[in-house]
Amino acid sequence: MTCNWCERDINLYKLCEYEDHNVCKSCYDKYIALYPNRLSGCPYCVGVVEVVILSVEDDIVPLNTSIPDEVYVFIASVSFCCLSFMIITWVYVFYILNK
Ligand SMILES: [Zn+2]
Ligand SMILES: [Zn+2]
Repeated sequence: MTCNWCERDINLYKLCEYEDHNVCKSCYDKYIALYPNRLSGCPYCVGVVEVVILSVEDDIVPLNTSIPDEVYVFIASVSFCCLSFMIITWVYVFYILNK
C-alpha cells in the first residue's frame, strides 16, 4: 500500500473502508492546510461530500430566510422613540433659552 498522492508507504492513514483511498500523514496535513473548511476524514469520501453539501446550503439559506415583520416593527418603534426624544429635548432646550 502506498500513498495515492506521493507514492510513499510511510505513515499511511486508514481514513475509510476503501482499499484504494490511501493518503499518508504529510499529504493529509498539506490537504487540511489547503482546505481548512473541509470535514476531517478521507479526502476522497468526506472532502467532496462536504463541499457539495456546503454549496447547496449556501444556495438554499438566502432563499428561505427573510426578515420577519417583528424586526421592521421593532426598528420603526425604536426610530420613533429616538425621534420623539430628540424633538422633546430640542423643545425643552428652546423653552429654557427663550424664558
Ligand atoms: Zn503522501
Ligand atoms: Zn475514502
